[in-house]
Amino acid sequence: MTSSKALFIHGAGDVRVASYQCREPDKNEVMAEVAAVGICGSDIHYYKDGGIGSAVIDKPFVPGHEFGATVLADIPENDIESGELVAVDPATPCHVCEWCSKGYHNLCPFVRFVGAPPYNGALTPSLPIMRSAAIKLPLGMTADQAAMLEPLGVCLHALDLAKPRLMESVAVVGCGGIGLGIIQLLALSGVQRIVGFDPQQHRIDKAIELGAHDARRQISDVSGLTNGRGFDLVLEATNSPDGLRDAVHAAAIGARVILVGIPDGDTYSPLSAAEARRRGLDLRFSRRMGDVYPRAISLVHEQRIDVDALITHRFTLENSPEAFEIQAQNHKGLIKSMVYPND
Ligand SMILES: [Zn+2]
Ligand SMILES: [Zn+2]
Repeated sequence: MTSSKALFIHGAGDVRVASYQCREPDKNEVMAEVAAVGICGSDIHYYKDGGIGSAVIDKPFVPGHEFGATVLADIPENDIESGELVAVDPATPCHVCEWCSKGYHNLCPFVRFVGAPPYNGALTPSLPIMRSAAIKLPLGMTADQAAMLEPLGVCLHALDLAKPRLMESVAVVGCGGIGLGIIQLLALSGVQRIVGFDPQQHRIDKAIELGAHDARRQISDVSGLTNGRGFDLVLEATNSPDGLRDAVHAAAIGARVILVGIPDGDTYSPLSAAEARRRGLDLRFSRRMGDVYPRAISLVHEQRIDVDALITHRFTLENSPEAFEIQAQNHKGLIKSMVYPND
């Protein structure tokens, strides 16, 4: 046990920095010093709602699953030396269950996920990580970029499910960190037109800056923008119960709808069945990610995607509770907060 500090979520609306007894690594793990941690919309659900669905916080819990870290031991099997900055894949699926066997590692019910209850996360100066979870990075990649690979992976997985087609029209409902990552990937994909929707003006502005052809605050603008037709493909990445309904309303007949966001309160608001049925929609739910790290690393390393443009706020561990407060309040100007637990 090493005496340290961590940010704990105690329950809904209750977040504190306190002393933390960090455990020692086991034989499958190495100790790692956390270089940067991104605050995710899912972390904010733990803060606002005290849990996500059945994943309820029943004791103080350390969040943080989007992080880059410096390993404190060699990992020769991954060509990593002590002192190297790595990305950390927070998910260690069981590899033996029916779903893992079928290739759905992202859906494994037995996954150990760093920063999802009951597994404490990275909002602490150092923690043990699985040796197999340390991902080698090309020279020159920064701690911020290492931490952003996980959310970029979520965006990539959503695009893998969406299979965007050349010259089709696409709506992105919700332009937070994930929606804006999706917009950047879509801009590389050859679709004809990308339109972002978000109630906050600064996110609309960012959507245009990062490759959207148009961006609107009102989902009701869809009809005018598409002559009543709707979009061929809709990706939803909001935290709103209205996300599903808005995505359906934005969709054309026969469109594909990919739901990436987690709604506040773990509930979707009511939706007219006819609106969805009559469109014959192809509806898919996106959860976490498949095998995306090599592509995510290339996208950042080759500067095809600008993850740094998404980081708007920075915090030390000591003042990191503010990161949760301002994100829960939809603070103006906020897209992504990064915390540096060793600063
Ligand atoms: Zn996340
Ligand atoms: Zn499994």
